[in-house]
Amino acid sequence: MTTTPTLLDDLAGTVAHGSAPASFQTGLTHRPAVVVEPAGTAETATVLAVAARRHVAVTVHATGHGLRAPTTGGILLVTTRMATIDVDPVDRVARVGAGARWADVAGAAARYGLRPPNGSAPSVGVAGYLFGGGLGLTARTDGWAADHVRGFELVEADGTPCTVDAGADPARFARLRGTGPADGEVVTAVTVGLLPAGPLTGGGLERVLGPADEPADDAGALHAWHEWTRELPDEVTSGLSVVPYPDLPFLPAPLRGKRVLRIAVVVCGDTARADVLLAPLRAALGPTGTADTVGPLDPAGFARVYAEPEVPHAYLGDDLLVDDLGGAALDGVAARVGPMVVTGIRHLGGAAGRTPSVPDTVHGRDAGYLVGALAPFDPGAADAPTARAEVDDVLSGFTARATGRHPSFRFGPCPRPGG
Ligand SMILES: Cc1cc2nc3c(=O)[nH]c(=O)nc-3n(C[C@H](O)[C@H](O)[C@H](O)COP(=O)(O)OP(=O)(O)OC[C@H]3O[C@@H](n4cnc5c(N)ncnc54)[C@H](O)[C@@H]3O)c2cc1C
Repeated sequence: MTTTPTLLDDLAGTVAHGSAPASFQTGLTHRPAVVVEPAGTAETATVLAVAARRHVAVTVHATGHGLRAPTTGGILLVTTRMATIDVDPVDRVARVGAGARWADVAGAAARYGLRPPNGSAPSVGVAGYLFGGGLGLTARTDGWAADHVRGFELVEADGTPCTVDAGADPARFARLRGTGPADGEVVTAVTVGLLPAGPLTGGGLERVLGPADEPADDAGALHAWHEWTRELPDEVTSGLSVVPYPDLPFLPAPLRGKRVLRIAVVVCGDTARADVLLAPLRAALGPTGTADTVGPLDPAGFARVYAEPEVPHAYLGDDLLVDDLGGAALDGVAARVGPMVVTGIRHLGGAAGRTPSVPDTVHGRDAGYLVGALAPFDPGAADAPTARAEVDDVLSGFTARATGRHPSFRFGPCPRPGG
């Protein structure tokens, strides 16, 4: 008796069948028919060729930081096993498997006195970050991370492997860096330029604005940061966040139940230079507060700059690119009470505002700031729509100066139109 080969038969021997992968975003869950974890380009090509022949959809999962559209059925292609990192210290590049995370690349590069153009969170995946452009810790000095990409190794939807770079396919190379792959394309590796490791100075300045459940009537600290950013040279990249911490026993006492301003700063220079540049900001903020961790920065220890939570959780969020921050908008952030929403603002401009020598499709070169709002939610309680409304409410204060939206800072379910 002959039997017709199943999808699993077609894939057998070329890929490992894993279970549903871990995801940083826990508010959404992939429910595929089959999970595959190819070890490299050849196995990825086999998977895509089988999928094309059988007309089965393929969804790619790296870390789940940017998970917005979970799949039901089809093949889920998990990139975790493609995580090799080869640093070439002479050419100052790293060939990085698409499943690698920035912490691993930073660690590998540090051994050669180099650093990658990573962003704020060590656990973010290399590929997904670069597809959005990659707003790095030194973006105003070094430009967007995508500006440093030399080439991609990619498998097309029909299973054909190819390389994409400025010479081989300039239009696709530009599109991958800032907009990302087309439907069905899977990137298996990327070659990215590395930067000198130092000197680098960075950390955070924290100030308690008041109780989280009362409007802060003084937004002076937010305005001080805004004023400080206006005249800064390109060697400084910074961002501000306002976090209304709940009154929960596991939180550090100084933060519990408080609305806390954190200014994350990286200076491409030594501490003496950073102290000069930070002096007006420190003076304007005054001595009261909880922390000033700005000091020599080990590029492999970059998590301390933005100090974001590294525990997987359910969150949704959105962003606006703006040409400037209205004073009333900053007052509104300080005064806002209600369900928890973290407001984050990153200073753009400098090298992040200039077109790179090899063009890409990064959003936001004409913007002065990127404003993000992020809310946790309880998937069990189905309160995502409420959290979405809170996020939209925060961003509505900034719409008068909006120039667009950035694709990398939209998170979770209930997307806005176009999101
Ligand atoms: C805590 C936190 C901090 C962040 N900080 C920054 C920051 O500082 N700067 C910044 O620019 N962004 C930042 N981001 C945004 C982040 O860059 C995006 O969420 C990005 O999409 C995450 O990519 P990923 O590969 O880790 O996640 P995933 O959710 O696994 O992938 C994101 C998207 O890319 C697709 N994809 C992934 N790999 C491949 C591949 N090999 N081939 C084809 N498609 C693929 C996936 O299908 C998915 O659509 C942050 C996000 C979080 C949650």
